[in-house]
Amino acid sequence: MHIRLRWCRRTAICRGCQKPIAAGTPEVFGVLWRRKYRTRYYWHPQCWFEEEMAYLQLHPYEKPVGSAGRPKLNITAERMRQRNLLRYRRGRALQRIRDLGKRLPATLPVIERLHLKIEEIAVEMEKVGGVPKGWRL
Ligand SMILES: [Zn+2]
Repeated sequence: MHIRLRWCRRTAICRGCQKPIAAGTPEVFGVLWRRKYRTRYYWHPQCWFEEEMAYLQLHPYEKPVGSAGRPKLNITAERMRQRNLLRYRRGRALQRIRDLGKRLPATLPVIERLHLKIEEIAVEMEKVGGVPKGWRL
């Protein structure tokens, strides 16, 4: 439902108290579209406010759990720096594998060494706060 406050243009019946809303006074106006059918709702501002407050009373405030996005790793800045260095090293190795992959099979031994290197990086990563989920095969 789309809700707004506007001047009442012609007398309408309030959904809250069933009494008429006089033209020229403020009204809360709501529109609800269901496929191509439009339903219009009118309230006295006060009636609407009371309805909504009653709803809020029934549904008390709940503090949001956590925050948006990936959960934060609880580690020191120095550890984070080490982790980032390991990420860069792994990224470089992956990049080289992609490049060398275009010149197979001559580059196969190099690629094998790089895969071993990536495994070593994962072992080091485990020591500084765990291996990222995306690194596991
Ligand atoms: Zn009313």
